[in-house]
Parts: sequence; structure tokens; C-alpha cells
Amino acid sequence: MTLLTIITPSNPTLRKKAARVTVFDARLQTLIDDMLETMQAAPGVGLAAPQVAQGLRLFVARLEEEPGTGDDSDASPPPGLGRTHVMINPKITRFTGDAVVGTEACLSIPEYLGDVSRPHEIIIKYLDRHGQKRKLRTHGWMARVLQHEYDHLDGVLFIDKAEKVWRVELEEQAQTEWT
Ligand code: ZN
Repeated sequence: MTLLTIITPSNPTLRKKAARVTVFDARLQTLIDDMLETMQAAPGVGLAAPQVAQGLRLFVARLEEEPGTGDDSDASPPPGLGRTHVMINPKITRFTGDAVVGTEACLSIPEYLGDVSRPHEIIIKYLDRHGQKRKLRTHGWMARVLQHEYDHLDGVLFIDKAEKVWRVELEEQAQTEWT
């Protein structure tokens, strides 16, 4: 497997609308594995294909599900690392609950944090890495991370939506969950 380079806004791919995945071939599987490895190494809890300069509607996330919310799993990472999700051609079909403000960080915008208001709960439909249709209803932190990754597929960054952005101190960076 290969560690991929995470791009910043100086690379225009980060700002482009990504294309739907149409071919589930070995090349796609390699990209997914490399993205999972890159996310773990960063370390991050989410990584979208445009962040590694691939204009495809695909992201990976590594999250503990809150009880009773999920119905999918793509892999079993070591204990304590959370479950790994691979979401291809995702579509958020429902946003519910009040908007909640939470602090986000992005691997493509190192050293900055921002407060972003997002709906509390979502239903997301997507294809897994084998092209099987899946649906997940989730809320809280996981819903936030999935919305952040979903925005990446349309070239949208958290700084576009943030009410406030600030620079993070070095010691805080280790405790930050990057996405
Ligand atoms: Zn991000």
C-alpha cells in the first residue's frame, strides 16, 4: 500500500466537483486501501478522494457508531480505532434535527479549526467498496464528519461554512480529530 499526498487549496482539484464512480475495478480497490492507510497515518477520522487529488465521489471514515444507528461495516480495524466506512457516490437523503455548532478541522487545511453549524442527524445512501447499496442513519459527531466529507465531493471546505476560524496551537493539534 502507498501513503498518498494530502493536498491543500493550492491544488485546484480540492475545489472541483468530483465525478461519480462508475467502475469498481482493482484500481479503485487500491485507491480505497491507500486512502484508508493515509487516513490512519495522518492521523485522521475521515478522508475524501479529492483530498488526495482524485476527483471521485468517494470518502473513507473511521468512527465509533453510537448504538442503534448503523447497519454497515466494510472492515474491522484493530480495537479502539473505530469502524471503517467506505462510502461511494453518497447521497444525503435526509437532514433532520436542529442545527448544532461543532468544531471541525480538515487535513487539507492544517493548523486551523472552525465552528460549523450542521444538522444533527442525517440519512446517507451510498455504495460500499463492492458496489452494494447501503444506507446509514446517524447523528452527532459521526453525522458531522460524514457531512464534512460529503462537502469535499463538491469542492466545499469547512472554512466556507464556518462561523469562526482560528489557528490551533501545536499542543492542541495532537488532540484534534482531522477530517
Ligand atoms: Zn476535510
